[in-house]
Amino acid sequence: MSQSEIYDLIIIGGGPGGLSAGVYAMRAALKTVLIEMAAPGGQVNNSDSVENWPGDEHISGAELAMKFSQHAQSYGLEIIYQEAAELEPGLDYHRVKLANGSILQAHAVILATGGSPRKLHVPGEEDYYGKGVSYCAVCDGFFFRNKTVVVVGGGDTAAEESLYLAKLAKKVYLVHRRDALRAGALLQQRVKTDCNIEILWNSVAAEIKADDGGVYAVVLKDTQTEEERELATDGVFIFIGFDPNNKLVPAGTKMNADGYVVTDDKCETNSPGIYVIGDLREKYGRQIVLSAADGCTAALAAARFVETRKTAEVCELPEELKSQAS
Ligand code: NAP
Repeated sequence: MSQSEIYDLIIIGGGPGGLSAGVYAMRAALKTVLIEMAAPGGQVNNSDSVENWPGDEHISGAELAMKFSQHAQSYGLEIIYQEAAELEPGLDYHRVKLANGSILQAHAVILATGGSPRKLHVPGEEDYYGKGVSYCAVCDGFFFRNKTVVVVGGGDTAAEESLYLAKLAKKVYLVHRRDALRAGALLQQRVKTDCNIEILWNSVAAEIKADDGGVYAVVLKDTQTEEERELATDGVFIFIGFDPNNKLVPAGTKMNADGYVVTDDKCETNSPGIYVIGDLREKYGRQIVLSAADGCTAALAAARFVETRKTAEVCELPEELKSQAS
């Protein structure tokens, strides 16, 4: 990569973690840029309702995302709407190449690229994505008003999205591969008592069928008897977890077997000055508040790292230039 604009800190990813890091970095007077390829807020934008962000009993994901972004930008945080294509660690500066070919350099980089919805990898899923197959109820639920939908999954996301869809759809079938949900107790209770939701236990979606009018059925397989049956539906929403977006993680960075980056308690990777936060980092629990906390931790640590680097640079200057630099 060639030389270009130099920052103290580059943040890649504008979700709750990246934007919280932006707030703390700007307050620490770091020359900071945040790279985001879509709308600020990340996955939060897809949540109909957030009820566990302290201080807000109930707030829509889109509104919370907007508040995060406005807060960070109120300190003058620069945001570049581009895809980050490559992160190259360096001894003096780390370099980030953008999809448009520009190169940015910084003493420290915070990687906050989160994760993407996990795929079922069954026939029909890829072909009918956008024609009845969806990974976002808030984005697509509107198209299924008074229709029948199947939700696949048993975690918090599947439960939350089923409850959202149950307000719009005629009927929601929640298909789960075991006989107990993974979702938290409160969500489980709400799902089980919603008369618009029927849970189909011990079942997996083996195939999604569609015609010119879009999805019309899903083939369900009983995980105990292996029996298959066809269930009529207008749409299939898949919420079976997500995979970390680790494409930009430099070679040699310590990761666990599932592709999450291992950091120390400062969120720093084994490359000095490269931090990983939020859903990409190996940790217990993936919550908005935890990503925000990671953002704070990494920005505070990055500020100390940058200060140390700059002090070292000044110390290496010839005597006559030291007074000018300080
Ligand atoms: P998750 O907790 O990993 O749950 C994934 C669910 O999908 C599990 O029930 C799993 O079944 C099922 N599953 C996985 N692979 C499958 C496959 N190939 N076929 C069928 N089913 C499959 O994922 P998540 O619900 O997206 O949640 C991710 C994280 O975000 C969690 O830590 C969660 O607590 C958090 N989250 C929190 C909130 C909130 O607090 N408001 C909201 C959303 C998400 P098994 O149970 O059998 O493994």
